[in-house]
Amino acid sequence: MSDLPPIQPQPGIMEIALYQGGAAKIAGHDSVLKLSSNENPYGPSEKAREAVARAAHQMHRYPNTDHASLRQAIAEVHGLDPDRIICGVGSDEVLQFATQSFAGPGDEIIMTEHGFSMYPILTHAAGATPVVVPETERRVNVDAILDAVSDKTRLVFLTNPGNPTSTMLTEDEVRRLATGLPGHVLLVHDGAYTEFADDDFRLDFALADDFANVLSTRTFSKIYGLGGLRIGWGYARRPLIDVMNRVRQPFNLSVIQLAAAEAAMRDRAHVERCRTENVKWRDWLRNALLDLGLGCDESHANFVLARFADEATASACNEALLAEGIIVRKVAGYGLPNCLRITIGDEPSCRRVAHVIGRFMAERGKA
Ligand SMILES: *Cc1c(COP(=O)(O)O)cnc(C)c1O
Repeated sequence: MSDLPPIQPQPGIMEIALYQGGAAKIAGHDSVLKLSSNENPYGPSEKAREAVARAAHQMHRYPNTDHASLRQAIAEVHGLDPDRIICGVGSDEVLQFATQSFAGPGDEIIMTEHGFSMYPILTHAAGATPVVVPETERRVNVDAILDAVSDKTRLVFLTNPGNPTSTMLTEDEVRRLATGLPGHVLLVHDGAYTEFADDDFRLDFALADDFANVLSTRTFSKIYGLGGLRIGWGYARRPLIDVMNRVRQPFNLSVIQLAAAEAAMRDRAHVERCRTENVKWRDWLRNALLDLGLGCDESHANFVLARFADEATASACNEALLAEGIIVRKVAGYGLPNCLRITIGDEPSCRRVAHVIGRFMAERGKA
């Protein structure tokens, strides 16, 4: 018998608070309107569905390990070098490649006040320490990030457009951030919602071209409507991609994932249609909320953040929505207790959610 202590988790692991996904069920409701996870209301491309059906005949075969065909499709569509692309099980896995490859115990990873809740999880999993910097009125503050950089900093996570804020930094601001970071710090530009932003905001590939220390990530979970399949990718200079490929499991993406993602990437008409509808109904819903006297920043994503007078009102509105079978996202855990994040659904969904919130506000006004 040894005198060693019993099995111990690695440093940081017990600091991890489990990720809270968007709810999908309400007790007593058979059918619900789920607007809590920023999913695409139109679903994936028909071509992706067909590709999955065909790939089902290949399930006994191991997938290829280099994702060459998917990377080629991504590269052709976006005008990129396929050798600078890495694919993962959701962009979450690409973010994990980054933390695992470039940070460890004793290192610091900077994230912002209302940043994505996967960042602290991945930071602790790598044994590193999260450093959370304030935002200004729900917008990332570049100077606050730069001020927080130390010799221990290894990574900065920037969600742009932000989740759950929906706000976005301008190209000048992001460039100022990238320029201001020392060469030992990797800037991870998480572009999960980039496709929903205006054309002139889509700068993330240019960043990864211009800076040796930028990794831009994208996902198939949002505009491509494939959240259930788990596929994402990242773009950076080759030396960074080479490092991350060493920690990537060779068979991380299945034949089904690869086939679906490639077909979805090549179906630009579907992406354009989803983008156009999202812009239209996002603006409509934001205006409806503003007309009701609620706060709502201009959104660059596929959701809006409704801002109430206080936490109690936000919670009461959430209850009113649940009573009608509508699930939106409470974001108190993101430091926004008086807000509700509402995914942009299709037209009937947007009208329904606006109607219920309008009725709630009217009743509240009478009380
Ligand atoms: C949804 C989301 C992702 C993407 O996650 P996947 O793992 O690709 O599904 C990444 N970052 C942010 C901020 C997100 O909201």
